[in-house]
Amino acid sequence: MIAKNIEKFNEQLTSTHCKLVAVSKTKPIEDLQLAYQAGQRIFGENKSQEMHSKHELLAKDIQWHMIGHLQRNKVKYIAPFVNLVHSIDSIKLIKEIQKEAIKNDRTIDCLLQVYIAKEETKFGFDEEEVMTLLESKELLKFDQVNIVGLMGMATNTTDKDQIRSEFKDLKRIFDFIKNSHETSNVQMVELSMGMSGDYQIAIEEGSTLIRVGSSIFGSRNYA
Ligand SMILES: *Cc1c(COP(=O)(O)O)cnc(C)c1O
Repeated sequence: MIAKNIEKFNEQLTSTHCKLVAVSKTKPIEDLQLAYQAGQRIFGENKSQEMHSKHELLAKDIQWHMIGHLQRNKVKYIAPFVNLVHSIDSIKLIKEIQKEAIKNDRTIDCLLQVYIAKEETKFGFDEEEVMTLLESKELLKFDQVNIVGLMGMATNTTDKDQIRSEFKDLKRIFDFIKNSHETSNVQMVELSMGMSGDYQIAIEEGSTLIRVGSSIFGSRNYA
């Protein structure tokens, strides 16, 4: 099933500029291996230690994406190898990633998580906070952190018009930054939006990275 699902997504994505992040959080190594054998190379996890131990066990050409809230004291577990952090939600976190990037003698690519949903969530910047941050030029100090785009999550609703309008909103912010606020380490390349329930709308609205878990691996059991 997992291999078939990966194939189906690849078919759907061939005519787009969008890549598939296979969200493997909570799933056993065997499931990731099946996806890998089907050609999948980008995996998304939301816990640092889980990502670290899966990285140890699996092929070294896998690109690891952190998609969940990242605590500052856990950056060290993933800093040596992580390919993209989707979930930057504070300047303090950027500061910590800069510190760990220096220790590991590398540059770490990140996305700013922007709050677009009409529901209460704890994480992410709102539009005004993002623009204030970019206008402050404070990010220039963190020269081993590259901000390569934005990530957002739409409201968990069946209202497709609402989901579409939230994705449009994120794309508008992305384009605005791209046109007027790029710097040496802020470049709008990746727009991470869309999950199992709403990835089709996200692709239509310009997503470059869809983060898909349950539609590939089946539902998660947190028990
Ligand atoms: C779990 C998760 C996903 C994947 O969700 P599915 O509905 O299983 O596709 C995508 N993005 C984030 C941030 C997640 O935490």
